[in-house]
Amino acid sequence: MAHELPPLPYDYSALEPVIDTQTMKLHHDMHHGTYVKNLNAALEKYPSLQSKSAEELLRDLNAVPEDIRTTVRNHGGGHVNHTMFWKIMKPKAGGDPSGPIADVIKKTFGNFKDFQTKFNDAGGKVFGSGWVWLAGKPSGEVQIVTTPNQDSPISQGLFPIFGNDVWEHAYYLKYNNRRPEYLVAWWNVVNWEEINKRYKALKSGQREPALASR
Ligand code: MN
Repeated sequence: MAHELPPLPYDYSALEPVIDTQTMKLHHDMHHGTYVKNLNAALEKYPSLQSKSAEELLRDLNAVPEDIRTTVRNHGGGHVNHTMFWKIMKPKAGGDPSGPIADVIKKTFGNFKDFQTKFNDAGGKVFGSGWVWLAGKPSGEVQIVTTPNQDSPISQGLFPIFGNDVWEHAYYLKYNNRRPEYLVAWWNVVNWEEINKRYKALKSGQREPALASR
């Protein structure tokens, strides 16, 4: 079955004023839509790979035929990353986390504010396009990592608990070149309930989050 663009779980305007309507529309329909389209096109000549989830492909990129490896890395990564991104945001959200994710952040970074500062700094320092993540090891330990382009932490053996998209397409219409401002505002739409679900999946031994294509 072909990979599919998941519908946004809320209206294009739902994350206003943090993320503007036009950015959401272009970002979801055009950018994410293109990742899905190009991933499917690359897999056309490899029927045996079509039954694999995008996550499975990213977990072992060396097993992907060389002629489509870069496309799978970029567009499969784009599909998985954005599927996560829409879900870990919601309107009227943000605030301090609670539950197990709050506990592990406190344990690892001392307190939530220090964690936010480190996460924002890391996101601000990504040169060019990429992502900033809170990623987990199979042991349940967590760390802030950044990835270039659409690379997924899954390809490094890490579980992407949540991440923020720092490509210019994610913020430029509203924030222009002020990426740090976007990074700070973004916390107001973070969906801690969904992030707790993902962290619990890691803790329960899942190698990676629920499949993007389902
Ligand atoms: Mn994006």
